[in-house]
Amino acid sequence: MKIHEYQAKELLRGFGVPVPHGEPCFTPEEAVEVAKRLGGPVWVVKAQIHAGGRGKGGGVKLARSLDEVRAHASAILGMQLVTHQTGPQGQLVRRLLVEEGADIRKELYVGMVVDRATQKVCLMASSEGGMDIEEVAAHTPEKIERVFIDPQEGLTSADAERVARKIGVPDLPPSPSGRGAGGEGASEGTITQAVRTLQGLYKAFWETDASLAEINPLVVTGDGRIVALDAKFNFDSNALYRHPDFVALRDLDEEDPAEIQASKFDLSYVRLDGNIGCLVNGAGLAMATMDTIKLYGGEPANFLDVGGGATAEKVTEAFKIMLGNPGLKAILVNIFGGIMKCDTIAQGVIAASRAVSLSVPLVVRMKGTNEALGRQLLKDSGLPIISAETMAEAASRVVAATGARA
Ligand code: GDP
Ligand code: MN
Repeated sequence: MKIHEYQAKELLRGFGVPVPHGEPCFTPEEAVEVAKRLGGPVWVVKAQIHAGGRGKGGGVKLARSLDEVRAHASAILGMQLVTHQTGPQGQLVRRLLVEEGADIRKELYVGMVVDRATQKVCLMASSEGGMDIEEVAAHTPEKIERVFIDPQEGLTSADAERVARKIGVPDLPPSPSGRGAGGEGASEGTITQAVRTLQGLYKAFWETDASLAEINPLVVTGDGRIVALDAKFNFDSNALYRHPDFVALRDLDEEDPAEIQASKFDLSYVRLDGNIGCLVNGAGLAMATMDTIKLYGGEPANFLDVGGGATAEKVTEAFKIMLGNPGLKAILVNIFGGIMKCDTIAQGVIAASRAVSLSVPLVVRMKGTNEALGRQLLKDSGLPIISAETMAEAASRVVAATGARA
């Protein structure tokens, strides 16, 4: 589950990470009110959507007067913001973050993910902040520092300091006078602040069951303060039961309506870019089905795991969700009948096809208990269902049905 930047910053603040003062708002008038409360002379007006790359897309603007705050807020609210993470259709901006502007001396990158290979949290840090970290990883991977954090020890001060120096945090003395983003001035040197920030980020990551945390950019200000100017947090959905307060932060406007609908019926559904709908039971079989479709030159329109109990109701709902995609050209149903018998599944598929008056070719492969009976039911239904024996046959038939020639 994702949250907005302003929510991630509130969270980080609670773990001692310095963030600019700011508030979310929903109208240009509110934006001006927030700016007045914060005081000037420079503010940043930021689109709040669950995607990065907003700066380049025109969703982050500096304002040097209250009139500029109002003008930027009016322009950004309601815009269809297109970034490399939203896809070409963009995302409607419904809320803003207005915060005090920071005087940037240096932009750094820090992020954390769970590394499956080492089963540890991995800290990634780079001197190349403010830009696409994917670009840095692709072209200058040597500019990314990595630390695999021992869960017993946590992020040690020694490791944090080593990383801070490596990515170019300057060794500046305390500057208690400053007033700007973060606001508190700096009673500690920059290196000490960076160490505390990295340790705060790790603690936040660990205690919130995050799957990804990113501060890009983490900046050093002109007066020697470390401030998180951007923040991104994703949480492990399987751990959300431990964090009801985060569930309350969920913004359904930012999620794919088809995925929300699917979750209501306990279907694991992820929309993809292709045109072949897949309805499969079991995540592993679903992945294998998508691979096989690609092997035969097709492109899956979705991942969909109907789980153990593929009831007629679930199959019908899954069909409806897949057909809601205007680009859909064909559907492949690939079911292993274990506990769930193939004849039951066949009945479900038949009922679903009739209920939605299916308009695209449907290929069905069923294996397991009562498969002959299931296949007979499909045949007797009179529906134009294309039956397949093997995965290969199913994939080649469904690709052919889309009209694509591999
Ligand atoms: P993103 O493009 O979605 O990652 O949004 P960011 O929050 O990272 O903002 C993009 C860029 O805007 C940053 O890399 C900064 O260069 C710039 N920016 C953001 N906040 C400020 C600020 O307070 N002062 C200045 N000068 N630039 C800022
Ligand atoms: Mn950013």
